Amino acid sequence: AGEKRSGTAEPVGGVENLVIIGSGPAGYTAAIYAARANLKPVVFEGYQIGGVRGGQLMTTTEVENFPGFPEGVTGPELMDRMRKQAERWGAELRTEDVEYVDVRNRPFTVRSSDSEVKCHSIIIATGATAKRLGLPREHEFWSRGISACAICDGASPIFKGQELAVVGGGDTATEESLYLTKYAAHVHLLVRKDKLRASKAMQDRVINNPNITVHFNTETVDIEADDKGQMGGLRLRDLVTGEGRSLKVRGLFYGIGHSPNSQLLEGQVELDDASYVVVEPGTTNTSVEGVYAAGDLQDHEWRQAITAAGSGCMAALSVERYLAAND
Ligand code: FAD
Repeated sequence: AGEKRSGTAEPVGGVENLVIIGSGPAGYTAAIYAARANLKPVVFEGYQIGGVRGGQLMTTTEVENFPGFPEGVTGPELMDRMRKQAERWGAELRTEDVEYVDVRNRPFTVRSSDSEVKCHSIIIATGATAKRLGLPREHEFWSRGISACAICDGASPIFKGQELAVVGGGDTATEESLYLTKYAAHVHLLVRKDKLRASKAMQDRVINNPNITVHFNTETVDIEADDKGQMGGLRLRDLVTGEGRSLKVRGLFYGIGHSPNSQLLEGQVELDDASYVVVEPGTTNTSVEGVYAAGDLQDHEWRQAITAAGSGCMAALSVERYLAAND
């Protein structure tokens, strides 16, 4: 006895109740719920991805679809508010990147370059990173013409009524293309191969849509600026003939997938073929009892701030039950 803790007491024997890894909507929401349940969670916020704590929304301007903000809110302000709310209820926030996790032995171990914590439970919410093409001018036009989320940005004034391009040949790219037809003057789907990888149903919807032109065997080479320095078009290359050409578009959407930040758990909890953490359907339970995964790290389908926050809440409530049952 002595080592295992209930959810309502101070950590004992140097073993914390709960460590949360990540400071996106999932991590902070888990921190708010766990702190309010008096679990005294230790939160490793991380900063290396994007160079700042707060997760993916730190890289965007307006968030127009998070409930409670009828006028919209900037990504950084939304994340700052979540952080303050977690802090107010007593979450211990450490702006450190976790370098090592051991969930094979109990209590679990979480280590950063500055500290090591032993704990009875872990919520991992390290998110996912949209894959990029690595175009020469990509950095210059990121969030100024290039986006990795049609649902987030499709309705933005810079894209509305414009010709847009989507790159990719799978389900994400076809879904983004169809979604963008709601707003765009026309959508060009740029596919490297000579066919689409998406499901047959999605392929049919795209091919038969008069507002989408599919360009097969097409490589996206770089961005072309207009005389005001905005995105004016794309430099493309035909992979069969080798010929280059320009395509006039005002926006480029990446639909080439995401990489979940699951390296810390590799070989320790079950991951799927694309390295997402596998959770029991309808829960945040991973294959290791006491370890929960929330947000984009375990979600290749919805990938929204509100769904990440929702699963962060589920994970914290699950931890509370788990600790109470193991008291
Ligand atoms: P993330 O936000 O990705 O956060 C992951 C966290 O884990 C980060 O804090 C990171 O630093 C941390 N981390 C990673 N590795 C470590 C480590 N080793 N140690 C410690 N910490 C670590 N969604 C919307 O609903 N509306 C929008 O308008 C919208 N706009 C978007 C615009 C852009 C440009 C992007 C990229 C995404 C947008 N999204 C939007 C999607 C939304 O941002 C994500 O769905 C959401 O942020 C996922 O939350 P998360 O908590 O799972 O992960």
